[in-house]
Amino acid sequence: MEFIKDYSFNELLEVFTAMGEKEYRVRQLFNWIYEKNVTSFDEMTNFSKDLRARLGEKFILSPLTPEDRLLSELDGTEKFLFRTHDDQFIESVFLRNDGTDEGRLTICISSQVGCPMGCRFCETAKIGFIRNLSPGEILDQVCHVRRLTGLKNNNIVFMGMGEPFHNYDNVLKAADIMNYTFGFHISVRKITISTSGILPAIERYIDEKRLYNLALSLNDTLPEKRVVHMPVEKKYPFEKIAKLLEKKFPASRNRLTIEYIMRGDNISADDAHRLKKMFKHVSIKLNLIPLNPGNHTLPLPGEKEIENFLKELEIMNIPVSIRKSMGQDISGACGQLSGKKYRDESC
Ligand code: SAH
Ligand code: SF4
Repeated sequence: MEFIKDYSFNELLEVFTAMGEKEYRVRQLFNWIYEKNVTSFDEMTNFSKDLRARLGEKFILSPLTPEDRLLSELDGTEKFLFRTHDDQFIESVFLRNDGTDEGRLTICISSQVGCPMGCRFCETAKIGFIRNLSPGEILDQVCHVRRLTGLKNNNIVFMGMGEPFHNYDNVLKAADIMNYTFGFHISVRKITISTSGILPAIERYIDEKRLYNLALSLNDTLPEKRVVHMPVEKKYPFEKIAKLLEKKFPASRNRLTIEYIMRGDNISADDAHRLKKMFKHVSIKLNLIPLNPGNHTLPLPGEKEIENFLKELEIMNIPVSIRKSMGQDISGACGQLSGKKYRDESC
């Protein structure tokens, strides 16, 4: 049996055509799956009994099972734990309020079980890499969170467990389905893919002229420090990525987001100057994330240090936003997803 959510429109069109069904049926199918978010083929009431039965024999509708759900008392953020068909665990986070006033309802989704990148500040890294998620497993996180919260998100960030560009094909396929008019119909500008910096995948992304928001996790301005926190620096030095961006990332496009975790030891005036120099010819928006606590011993930033860093960046005219840490009390903030069960009962 296969997961129906792994299929693109064209792939399902082929299946339906082979079954002797018309194209409009595929549009109806997408509407049932993503817009109406049904949980069984039997709910697809404008399909004949026979078609529903044939779909049920061939496909599994929902690849994930919700296992647990935790609500933050601090800010209403919710974290969801899902079990996959092979008994792996992944997490998604629903942010009712992302610290801005833009009415965004965001789902932060996972792209892998675990992560192979080994960043020192991140809980997901401690799991190691188990496997990639399929497109359907990525999409089903959104279906479940929508159903369980009763709310339709209008924003997606690939910032949960895993390195999205290490699972490029599945992530982009899932993003495309989210974007379809008869999928979730979320605009390209409301889907953000965050990467720790896999250079060939970034180049491919740019060459394919993809328009989803791209976010790059930089986190240090000196290569010798970055490599300590992010081993990916060794294989793909950020300097090379910056050069690639300079050459290929058109300023006319949506601005690139550079994510920067603020620790106690990477927010000096020198760091601000190096940032300015690094992106002299690329249009960026700097997204600052105060380091979230976890199983690491890295220094948290002080308020005064953050203030000084912000002043330096302002002087240099670098557009900055600060990501408020959401869901810290439920370990739902950036870098805190570990895929562990929260309680004994399920949700
Ligand atoms: N793997 C991708 C996306 C998931 S991580 C990536 O690394 O970009 C999403 C964001 O959380 C990244 O910008 C990462 O640098 C940040 N992050 C990881 N651990 C963190 C922590 N302890 N505190 C704050 N941000 C963290
Ligand atoms: Fe993976 Fe991102 Fe965590 Fe690094 S920060 S280990 S790339 S999930």
